[in-house]
Amino acid sequence: MNLFIVATPIGNLGDMTFRAVEILQKVDLVAAENTNTAMKLFAKFDIHTPFTSFHAHSNEKKVSELVEKMQTGKTIALISEAGTPGISDPGFALIQAAIQVKIPVVPIPGCCAAIAGLSGSGLRMDKFTFLGFLPLKKGRQKLFESLRDKNETIIFYESPHRILKTISQIKAVLGDERRVVLARELTKIHEEFFRGTLAEAVDFLNSKKVRGEFTVLIEGT
Ligand code: SAM
Repeated sequence: MNLFIVATPIGNLGDMTFRAVEILQKVDLVAAENTNTAMKLFAKFDIHTPFTSFHAHSNEKKVSELVEKMQTGKTIALISEAGTPGISDPGFALIQAAIQVKIPVVPIPGCCAAIAGLSGSGLRMDKFTFLGFLPLKKGRQKLFESLRDKNETIIFYESPHRILKTISQIKAVLGDERRVVLARELTKIHEEFFRGTLAEAVDFLNSKKVRGEFTVLIEGT
């Protein structure tokens, strides 16, 4: 009757941990955000466990169903499309529901883009704030202003088609000279770290067609 929170790779399948494979092979059921991604992972690592879909739109009924299964003694592993479940991915509601009825929640740690980006960024690592995805409309300006005096590294996720706009807006609030790191395609063939000022980042993003997945890290004051 355990709920395992299993981190999976964020690009490079070589980052799958031995323990993650072992747990996914032995649980009764895997709750997967994206069943296609799960199938590829299962094929690669010889996992034959039954799976069910558990995504952002899964409702309370689905959460209750999974909790009831665990209460009858079944073990479930939760995986997201990539990285650590619950980190800008579904998982929180299921973890909370499991804890409420005293089902042991067991983390199986591994990849997380925010932490991978931070570890290669060269920015302060002892203290940081993680913002996940930024609000799309309301509250953006206020949020950017609230970052002005923070002395820790700020980390957030951004999509390639919004990154130029977002970095330009942040530059307007924090100024041209604040340093930023754009960690792109972490763990993949085209992994790249752009390190520079916000003004240089805008030029960099303007200079080419922006592709891939980005984790953004802004230096504190
Ligand atoms: N649960 C994941 C984790 O633990 O990192 C994050 C999932 S969130 C839906 C996806 C976002 O994470 C992407 O839009 C991107 O901003 C960031 N991301 C995921 N993989 C990445 C990678 N390989 N390189 C850089 N950023 C990545």
